[in-house]
Amino acid sequence: MAAAPETKTVHSPALTYFSMLSLLSLCPPFVILLSANATLSCLLKYSMLLGLRWYTMVHADGSVAQTWNYLKQHGLQGFIDIWPRPTAIAWKIIFVYGAFEAALQLLLPGKRVEGPISPTGNRPVYKANGMAAYFVTLVTYISLWWFEIFNPTVVYDHLGEIYSALIFGSLIFCVFLYIKGHVAPSSTDSGSSGNFIIDFYWGMELYPRIGKNFDIKVFTNCRFGMMSWAVLAVTYCIKQYELNGKVSDSMLVNTTLMLVYVTKFFWWEAGYWNTMDIAHDRAGFYICWGCLVWVPSVYTSPGMYLVNHPVNLGMQLALYILVAGVLCIYINYDCDRQRQEFRRTNGKCKIWGKAPSKIEATYTTTSGETKTSLLLTSGWWGLARHFHYVPEILAAFFWTVPALFNHFLPYFYVVFLTILLFDRAKRDDDRCRSKYGKYWKLYCNKVPYKIIPGIY
Ligand code: NDP
Repeated sequence: MAAAPETKTVHSPALTYFSMLSLLSLCPPFVILLSANATLSCLLKYSMLLGLRWYTMVHADGSVAQTWNYLKQHGLQGFIDIWPRPTAIAWKIIFVYGAFEAALQLLLPGKRVEGPISPTGNRPVYKANGMAAYFVTLVTYISLWWFEIFNPTVVYDHLGEIYSALIFGSLIFCVFLYIKGHVAPSSTDSGSSGNFIIDFYWGMELYPRIGKNFDIKVFTNCRFGMMSWAVLAVTYCIKQYELNGKVSDSMLVNTTLMLVYVTKFFWWEAGYWNTMDIAHDRAGFYICWGCLVWVPSVYTSPGMYLVNHPVNLGMQLALYILVAGVLCIYINYDCDRQRQEFRRTNGKCKIWGKAPSKIEATYTTTSGETKTSLLLTSGWWGLARHFHYVPEILAAFFWTVPALFNHFLPYFYVVFLTILLFDRAKRDDDRCRSKYGKYWKLYCNKVPYKIIPGIY
């Protein structure tokens, strides 16, 4: 993200595969109940986690122990009491923000960009106006504050209600995706597994659209999810300023790194349309709930913590962290850029000053056509098969470390991201192994490490 992130391991692939196997071997009603329970319990667990995280950050001094003691004392009723309810203002903020982003997506000019060939042989077409949308969004948001038309602290003050509304709103949105996938799919890259829960969870359509031009995954993943990350980072900064009359250097480092990361994302947005989230994962609960709920709440959380825990790092330490963070974001960007430049030029480019080393891998599409892809085996992609996840995780560490080590909670995202990316590397390897067969094996022999060169 950046893909945004396969933010979204709401429940493990193993569980879904288990559900699929069960579907074939056991009687259907039992399986539906089994998987439904698993999905429902994941949803409840993650929603509860979000609510408790928000409460701990904002009302319990960032201390998990304090929240735990409160829950021990007050039990379920205590939990119900602190659970933020969606309010009219929360819905209004979400609706206005969503409508604004949808309008920018539709109306701003942008270059025509073709996505990668889909499994059924389609090539989706996009309008690359992400950077313009990002710029307009931030300028509008900061101007609204500057000219005292709308104060972003309102967003911070209603954050719990907003998250709560997002949890329920996005669930309804996923039901809409499920129904659309059945009654009005946008392309042949769509289909049902025959199991309601799997269709709902993993999605039915790869490229769902409203009309010809409004791409739903670009909206959920990029323009709502990733954009909200930048908007909330700015919100936290403004809130701290309004509380203390100044912004601490820790908050400045955190906000700057997050904004550099999100700017990189929108700069490279058309590249993101070639990644797993867009090109391989269908639009269902797994990806959409993650982008609509998990990204705005979990990804932004180190900044949320810093609002009422300002740390003074001192100029030198702040600069070291900033430089290290920017370097990691740059390396992550360069890994993605290298792979895409290599594919775009059909291998006719320079990688670290030399002609790239590569494997020409053939595969068969679902419609039976034989195609060829190039696999890069030098540069960053020669160090490990998913080396780009290392700088991704380190960058997250560097924008969190300004919070120092008084509490674990700000580090939740770094831990979550590490688990997510290790799982993702495995998922991607499995997918590529089944797509490329012996050619992938050749790549694994040539580049034996999955993520960390020499170690894993
Ligand atoms: P990649 O960009 O790594 O794309 C993986 C795909 O690239 C594979 O499925 C394969 O697709 C192709 N590929 C694999 N190996 C090679 C190779 N050697 N040469 C050429 N092509 C290859 O996947 P991600 O979507 O995981 O990552 C994209 C970015 O998003 C990264 O910067 C990552 O760090 C970031 N990210 C961030 C997350 C977050 O939550 N913050 C979560 C996930 C990702 P094909 O079928 O085309 O061959």
